[in-house]
Amino acid sequence: MLQIHTIPAFEDNYFWLIQPDTQAPCSYIIDPGSAQVVHDYLKRHQLQLGGILLTHHHHDHIDGAAALRDQYQAPIYGPRSVRIPQVTHHLGEGDKLPLGNMTAKILEIPGHTLDHIAYLIETTEQPPHLFSGDTLFGAGCGRLFDGTAPLLHAALQRIAALPEDTLIYGGHEYTLANIRFALTIEPDNTELQARQALETEKRQQGIATLPTQLAIEKRTNPFLRCHLNSVRRSVEQISGKSLTTDADVFAGLRLIKDRF
Ligand SMILES: [Zn+2]
Repeated sequence: MLQIHTIPAFEDNYFWLIQPDTQAPCSYIIDPGSAQVVHDYLKRHQLQLGGILLTHHHHDHIDGAAALRDQYQAPIYGPRSVRIPQVTHHLGEGDKLPLGNMTAKILEIPGHTLDHIAYLIETTEQPPHLFSGDTLFGAGCGRLFDGTAPLLHAALQRIAALPEDTLIYGGHEYTLANIRFALTIEPDNTELQARQALETEKRQQGIATLPTQLAIEKRTNPFLRCHLNSVRRSVEQISGKSLTTDADVFAGLRLIKDRF
């Protein structure tokens, strides 16, 4: 049975630890921005490290990778990017990475950065798990660094096409701030209002709002709702521009969020 452990780090990062089989101590860490917190967690839970999986080159996602590699003799998997020289095994679109008795499928989803990849684990007994790095968050999406709005929009559309029960593991706890913004775009979205109460309650109890479910995101995350008239009208009103394509609405929405 697959188990995903949550390792909170820094202000609001999550390093996700994948344990493919709860009967076995082997595990894989996603985006370790720091080695110490991962090392402490492995020790406390008597787990071994079989590999380090990176989604993109940002420091808060990779800075612990080299120390963990040296300490555990574990390979570092990641995108083909000159900005992550620590990577020992490069991955690209469609590659399949064996993780114990399961497999992660690689999706290239540039947008937040050009080198961004995601890891999709599909099992027969559980919903799919997507480790989306800084591409999709609870009620929001990543900022544009070296990627472009059309690329990020296409990446999110790809994720939106996954099964509705897919669990999304993003790299940051941004959900409450994202919901506050989302409510300015869709003030009448009752499900979004209900979600705000629910997620606020979780945070008050120190519980992570991630993973989130794709179906919930499609109903409450404005960045996955750019095809709706209500979202388009809000973005047009705030930006003062008339917008035709979903990708234009997305670009406008991303810009408004940057200034929020
Ligand atoms: Zn990032």
